[in-house]
Amino acid sequence: MGWTPINYACGHRGEEQMYGKMSSRDARATYLGQYDCPACRGKQGEERGCKTLRGTEKQRAWAGDIRSDYLRRNSGLSAAECARLPIASGIWIDNRQSLDIIRPAIITPAIT
Ligand SMILES: [Zn+2]
Repeated sequence: MGWTPINYACGHRGEEQMYGKMSSRDARATYLGQYDCPACRGKQGEERGCKTLRGTEKQRAWAGDIRSDYLRRNSGLSAAECARLPIASGIWIDNRQSLDIIRPAIITPAIT
């Protein structure tokens, strides 16, 4: 058990508590280093006009990934529409399998 340093793709550094053999910890650190840090992942979409996600850092990172993928598939959304997307990470996570089906509902201002 120990804290293993991670050099994320975004240039930020972090560390994660990992267990097991050093070789498997190094492999996990290398794997995680292919991606941006959780804070940067949680901000994905803000450049398109989306608001800051709410939730724990892990929830925001996961929801940021889902929202980023959603925005990639819906490149025609305006900044105003992006600003009306949900900010609760749980909505993105809970509905990640059906975002396209519920799109008309998800972009209404009532759901935040
Ligand atoms: Zn970062």
